[in-house]
Amino acid sequence: MRNILLSRPTATDVESQVRKVLRGLGNPEPPLKLEDVRALLRLDRGYYSTRNDGFLREKVSRLAVAGAQIIERPTLLFDAVRKFDLRALYLPDRRRILLDETQPTPKQRWNEAHEIGHSILPWHADLMLGDHEQSLTPGCHAQIEAEANYTAGQLLFLQDRFLTAANDSTPTLDAVRALKSGFGNTYTTTFWRFIEGAHTDLPMIGLIGPHPRRLPANFNVSDPFRYVIESPAFVETFKSVAVADLHRAVSSYCGGQRAGPLGAAEIVLTDRNGDGHVFHFESFGNTYDCLTLAVYRRRHARVVGF
Ligand SMILES: [Zn+2]
Repeated sequence: MRNILLSRPTATDVESQVRKVLRGLGNPEPPLKLEDVRALLRLDRGYYSTRNDGFLREKVSRLAVAGAQIIERPTLLFDAVRKFDLRALYLPDRRRILLDETQPTPKQRWNEAHEIGHSILPWHADLMLGDHEQSLTPGCHAQIEAEANYTAGQLLFLQDRFLTAANDSTPTLDAVRALKSGFGNTYTTTFWRFIEGAHTDLPMIGLIGPHPRRLPANFNVSDPFRYVIESPAFVETFKSVAVADLHRAVSSYCGGQRAGPLGAAEIVLTDRNGDGHVFHFESFGNTYDCLTLAVYRRRHARVVGF
């Protein structure tokens, strides 16, 4: 799945909504405390469990007192949870966020910020749940999800605070790891935010997927990564590289060690004019994923025969 970059006007709208929230909190120091955000926005938080149908059903029926649509069509909500494999929900009429309690705690932080995102983007109010059937075409769903994710990133990384720190560092996985702890977010979300927001003139690609030497049994070669994140400068200058080619590149240098640095190499990618450019690829294994950062180095000098 490739990242969706928001249009500049949409991104600006999101940024101004987040700025209001952070200003309301007195522009706090990282890491952002989500309980403070909930208090400011008068949002409530609850939990459900996807492992336990009855639990979700009971929670929702109790919550749905004021939510006419949900009472009339309770199955819509259950269907949505299943169909989109939801890890969290936002019920606008109750200003309540529901998190799947079976998710690991670090992921819940992102999920909660994502749902806060839905709650602070005024144009999302009409799109959530109420107009379920019309609005949630796959394309529209992907767009509002991308907007909520962008909002989550803006919140959890305190807008310019993260970017200033990120731009002061060299674009390497070491730098991403160093930035991770200060803001209290996961390696994966820090990595994602770094590629989408930092060093804006530099073409970069981020890849998140299974360890290339320890592929799971259900590995699908036509869909080898969970996420392919292209930086704005990459999208501008380069055409999307086929995922199979990216996977071949990563597999060519990664070692078999379980975790830690897995290797690095220089790989040539082609720009929109058909010219080759050298990227530095480096990969790191954490217990769940292999993260690969590819950063632009230089134009590829063709070797010309005498
Ligand atoms: Zn969402």
